[in-house]
Amino acid sequence: MAKFAVDPAYRAETLAVRAGQERSQFGEHGEALYLTSSFVFESAAQAARRFSGEEVGNVYARFSNPTVTMFEERLAALEGAEDCVATASGMSAIMALCLAHLKQGDHIVASNSLFGATVQLFNNILSRTGITTTFVSHTDPTQWEAAIRPETKLFFLETPSNPLTEIADLRALTAIAHAHDILVAVDNCFCTPILQRPLDMGADLVVHSATKYLDGQGRVLGGAVCGPKKLTEEVFKYLRTAGPTLSAFNAWVLLKGMETLKLRVEAQSAQALQLAQWLEAQPQVERVFYPGLPSHPQHALAQSQQRSGGAIVSFVVKGERAAAWQVVDHCRLLSITANLGDTKTTITHPASTTHGRISPEARAAAGISEGLLRVAVGLEAVEDLQADLARGLGLIGG
Ligand SMILES: *Cc1c(COP(=O)(O)O)cnc(C)c1O
Repeated sequence: MAKFAVDPAYRAETLAVRAGQERSQFGEHGEALYLTSSFVFESAAQAARRFSGEEVGNVYARFSNPTVTMFEERLAALEGAEDCVATASGMSAIMALCLAHLKQGDHIVASNSLFGATVQLFNNILSRTGITTTFVSHTDPTQWEAAIRPETKLFFLETPSNPLTEIADLRALTAIAHAHDILVAVDNCFCTPILQRPLDMGADLVVHSATKYLDGQGRVLGGAVCGPKKLTEEVFKYLRTAGPTLSAFNAWVLLKGMETLKLRVEAQSAQALQLAQWLEAQPQVERVFYPGLPSHPQHALAQSQQRSGGAIVSFVVKGERAAAWQVVDHCRLLSITANLGDTKTTITHPASTTHGRISPEARAAAGISEGLLRVAVGLEAVEDLQADLARGLGLIGG
């Protein structure tokens, strides 16, 4: 949680490569990986000053580690945040944010299109501490306003939604929240700060699953909470006591991942647009969900808050589950997995995997139809991705 090693006014690609790096006495060019659980002091007096917080410095790896600090500063610079605290995973970032800022009796208003584990966290774990959640329409700000109670302390959302890529209106929702002294936290995992910076549009806190695009190569889990220091400090206090902090090794992997973040996200997003356009032209495809297409019902809103449509494309094939599974089962290149944010393109059938545990009625109400497929576009040539999907769509033999 120290100063920027570089000018925070640099552009994103510069910050992604340079921000946060602090060199040791050895003058290493790459970021150093500090594998140590604790730190030593020069004297009893210094130990006392470090423990009391009177002197800034490392004490124990649950509190801080220089490699983790470099990751935090790099992500803070990219999000345009004053501060960032790293966590062991995306879920621990969301848990830390909630337990740092909410207490028994508090109330959350959340989007009804959140990552599945986030819904479980709110419904099955936070609920046990007396923190309740009301889920409302992702796209209708009037529902958010109507759900506010005197004890509402947090709006929580992610945009675009998974898998239907619906857009939540960040500016409208933050205006409503702030009129009632409510904090707004945005899970910015899908867009990354390269495509969308929620803090610039009024959000108070940004959370990340660094596991996805920040790593980008499917290697490690990580997470983070970004925002003004007065808010992240509470999250830090929770983390140093409760312990779900980021490991130094994972921070080091994530630092390397972030160096190519802009190149990857822009390339993957450009490919996703091409793939979405191609899918939209196929007679076997009933509908394509992609914010970068003019046919997306919220295309204009997406353009007003995202720099591009992102790398997630969903589409409905004609012929229900059998046709959707046929597409999945004919893939030789696309990986059949629910993960996303990787350089390797993935495909998933939400109705039977990520959304398989919810009732068929609730699934239908949420728009997760049996013919729906989600593709998280990677860096392979788009022509090869199209050929893989074309086989399952019955467009070519094999
Ligand atoms: C994956 C994901 C998470 C959870 O992150 P983990 O690192 O797996 O704990 C949270 N939000 C979104 C949008 C995700 O895609």
